[in-house]
Amino acid sequence: MRVVRAKHAGVCYGVERALDMAVVAMMDEDDTHTLGPLIHNPTVVKQLEEQGVKVAKSVDDIESGIVVIRSHGVEPHVMQQLKDKGLTVIDATCPHVAKAQRSAGELRDAGGTVIVIGRAEHPEVKGLCGHAGERAVVVADVDELPDDLIEPVGIVVQTTESKEKLEAVVEAVRARGIEPVVKNTICFATRQRQNSAADLADEVDAIVVIGGKNSSNTTHLYDICKAHCERSYFIERVDEIDPAWFAGCETVGVTAGASTPDDQICAVVDYLETL
Ligand code: SF4
Repeated sequence: MRVVRAKHAGVCYGVERALDMAVVAMMDEDDTHTLGPLIHNPTVVKQLEEQGVKVAKSVDDIESGIVVIRSHGVEPHVMQQLKDKGLTVIDATCPHVAKAQRSAGELRDAGGTVIVIGRAEHPEVKGLCGHAGERAVVVADVDELPDDLIEPVGIVVQTTESKEKLEAVVEAVRARGIEPVVKNTICFATRQRQNSAADLADEVDAIVVIGGKNSSNTTHLYDICKAHCERSYFIERVDEIDPAWFAGCETVGVTAGASTPDDQICAVVDYLETL
């Protein structure tokens, strides 16, 4: 069976940067925390914990030492709470997320409704809402648009969302006779991975998507693959693979979310090549 890896797959710039910053912090200070899991990859988070990086669920759980802000960023009031506690803050917010936060703040200052496209429970979206202010509304899909939009309407997007969803929301707002101010904050790494996954899924008999089940960008990759290739499989670890998935396949594709390190991708590729 031929195994083809997507041209763009796996750890992105922002995740790599956050991991590097956490490792450097840990080498400087034994008492190092991350506010929430550093990345949406349980295997990597466990490895960091084994090396001494503690995962705090909230600001209340951290009394001393260093706290690393993950690539998803935080709400402004959370950053302030950490500083008020006298903690050393290492801000590993991805620069693309920081740009999206600034965009949300600009839309807030314009004074109307700020539509934040993304999953309400996702930490990046919570951070964006914190910057977008009281008139922020989170929309996971176009059918969640509220009836009462206050002009000027601004739109900002979770960095890992798909451009199709952004376009659908923009069109739905226009259909109400409102021209929104659109900040396309979908990051380049996400678009590269989505386009590569779609291209590969078109060519292969089956495709494996690797990443944390709690990872938004990996979930989107899986949805894209599924739309292009019926035999798409979403796994976190190589031992979840069932060889029966690939019965009759000549070519299998492999792609991975932005929080999936290369060793996890290689393990899957190596295993598939033995089938
Ligand atoms: S997916 Fe994009 S925005 Fe998110 S951490 Fe990676 S580079 Fe940054």
